[in-house]
Amino acid sequence: MKAAFDNSFARLPGQFYAKQAPVPVPAPRLFAVNRELATRLGIDPDSLTAEELAGNAVPEGAEPLAQLYAGHQFGNFVPQLGDGRALLLGEVVDVDGKRRDIQLKGAGRTAFSRGGDGRAWLGPVLREYVVSEAMHALGILTTRALAAVTTGEDVVRETILPGAILTRVASSHLRVGSFQAFGARGDTEALRLLTEHAIARHYPEADGALGLLKAVTEAQAKLIAAWMSVGFIHGVMNTDNMAISGETIDYGPCAFMDAYHPATVFSSIDQQGRYAYQNQPNIGIWNLAQLATALLPLIDTDSDAAIDKAEEVLHGFPDLFGAEWIRLFRAKIGLVTAEDGDGALIQGLLGRMASGQADFTNTFRALAKGDASGELTETGAWDSWASDWQARLDREPGDTAAIMRAANPAVIPRNHRVEEMIKAAVAGDYTPFERLNEVLARPYEDGPLTEDYARPPKPAERVLRTFCGT
Ligand code: AMP
Ligand code: MG
Repeated sequence: MKAAFDNSFARLPGQFYAKQAPVPVPAPRLFAVNRELATRLGIDPDSLTAEELAGNAVPEGAEPLAQLYAGHQFGNFVPQLGDGRALLLGEVVDVDGKRRDIQLKGAGRTAFSRGGDGRAWLGPVLREYVVSEAMHALGILTTRALAAVTTGEDVVRETILPGAILTRVASSHLRVGSFQAFGARGDTEALRLLTEHAIARHYPEADGALGLLKAVTEAQAKLIAAWMSVGFIHGVMNTDNMAISGETIDYGPCAFMDAYHPATVFSSIDQQGRYAYQNQPNIGIWNLAQLATALLPLIDTDSDAAIDKAEEVLHGFPDLFGAEWIRLFRAKIGLVTAEDGDGALIQGLLGRMASGQADFTNTFRALAKGDASGELTETGAWDSWASDWQARLDREPGDTAAIMRAANPAVIPRNHRVEEMIKAAVAGDYTPFERLNEVLARPYEDGPLTEDYARPPKPAERVLRTFCGT
């Protein structure tokens, strides 16, 4: 890998990480390279080798390390998590001048592995590759996939499965949990250094810890609204999976909804529905409150004053989220201008979709053609909404069909397609993986494969549960 590494995180003091090399694997095979992304990172795609991407060799300039972080998992605080199966190779500054982490996920056991083998199997690597790249193509901030290798090693889960490693790219891997690790220990000096590092990296205009909290609050409000607008359910919004950068991170049990219902949950470990579709904004605030708690000593030396200031920021979340949500959903029904009744009009549509189990993606995409009666099939559902909608569209000056085509993807990574792709790859056929990447790279266009990939699952194809992909 010919990359101009400049590793700012590795220059922080030792309590932030454990430096170590990846654990070698027997037979690396490079099966996916994201050439476009490599080029943007200033890396010659032809210099990416299976040996380096599998951790058998460390690229020149890289300083592999496991990052320490803590986190609330399903509401329970774990003071030390950290990269248990991932290593940060280092950072590069991309062609736009933005600093990016390059990380190997599945690179073997680390100082922070509590149990487990430090490995990943092919399924979750493919899932993250496809879904994170689809997210990027949808225009939503996310970590990205630079490459993927199989390792030639078996990993033992419920069955024996092929091992794989994903090369992940992120604006940084700093999480809410990164701050919690030092907040919980009362290490204010470390918090200060981490806060300075995060501000310099992500929000250079932010004023101190309170400024950082404000910036992350705004970024998360926008991110979660964007997820809602495409029917995305993250599935495991633990505080160690909420990035300070505002990028989507951790594609373990995530899923895009087919049929719309606000209470939808896929993750097999989310039995209470904590991370259900409609709960995502509330969990966003909850997580930000944990960030605020960690940052309190830096916000004000007077703890009551610190709490007041932090609360004021957190109380701003619902308005930030609400404004972004309605902006995105207005566009989904063809509107750029704002009228008081728009919220009710959107809710009227969503209510009908929920009661008729309409397909989320296809209903909105059909609006661009002016007729979603094929999706809203309950008697009277479409006609009763369409008359109000049409009246509202008549007051809209722009090209409403174009607005809707740009706001409503034709294709999303549907669960049954993702599962089918994984099954094929495990059997040695990577064609569905390649095809899925190709279709999802242009989600707002109608191409030759769109109709096929836009099709919702048949009852027998429906995926009801997703699993944290260790
Ligand atoms: P992740 O799914 O990467 O967010 O991991 C959540 C936590 O479980 C982290 O603390 C990891 O260190 C740990 N973990 C998950 N899978 C493995 C594995 N295969 N080997 C070691 N640790 C793991
Ligand atoms: Mg995680």
